[in-house]
Amino acid sequence: MNRQSLRLGLFIAIAPVTLVCLVAFAQSGPQPIDPKKQPTRADGLPADLLAAGETLSVGRVTADPGYSLDHLKREIAPTGRVRCPKVKKVRYKGDVIRYHSPVWVYVDFRDRLRLFEKVVRQTAIDIYGRAPRKIRHIGTYNCRRIGLWPTYLSEHGIANGIDVAGFDFGPLPRRTPRAVRKATPKKLRRAFKVRMIRHWHATSGVAHSHHRRFLRLLAARLVLRRDIFRVLLGPSYPGHKNHFHFDVSPWRLVQL
Ligand SMILES: [Zn+2]
Repeated sequence: MNRQSLRLGLFIAIAPVTLVCLVAFAQSGPQPIDPKKQPTRADGLPADLLAAGETLSVGRVTADPGYSLDHLKREIAPTGRVRCPKVKKVRYKGDVIRYHSPVWVYVDFRDRLRLFEKVVRQTAIDIYGRAPRKIRHIGTYNCRRIGLWPTYLSEHGIANGIDVAGFDFGPLPRRTPRAVRKATPKKLRRAFKVRMIRHWHATSGVAHSHHRRFLRLLAARLVLRRDIFRVLLGPSYPGHKNHFHFDVSPWRLVQL
């Protein structure tokens, strides 16, 4: 076999593999979502999110109402300085539950955060008998690209995402009904903190029976609420060991 036919043979052998890789890459990129085609069953819930036999209600799937930033182009050049489109941002302290420090967010994302806080409050009442005093975040607005997808603008670049590291609880209020107080372990009647980094994978004690359950029940409920966030990332997604990332991208991605 001469050198030319060897090259041709090598090309024929490699070309289909390369094509398959390119197709796979193109298909695995973020895909836009169609708000009208929303599933009506709880089929978006990761199977291993809650322990088998979980008795608390996780809720029902809601419809996606559409979003004011859906039209905004997220594709950017893979290298060079990132320029973030101007969107109307507001400083927000939290209405239902306060953030430990005010967040700087796109005006319509604030409405999504209000709904998020309501789910946090309800889930905390179900598990601990009270809402947390503070939501601990580690960032909202930050003009940058997506680490794993350098040709896409991060939702943080348009103040349309939040990173949540945990929740700070105060002591059980005096007026708490006796049955709830009795059902609350002593350790959890005083102030405590819940953190993704420590409690998402907790294996024993109240960290397992309450904190892990709280974080996972909250995540499950948020996955089913299509009217709040579309992208929900957690410890199983690279770079998210210590926080949830929530945003309203024009596509859906759930990896907790
Ligand atoms: Zn994030």
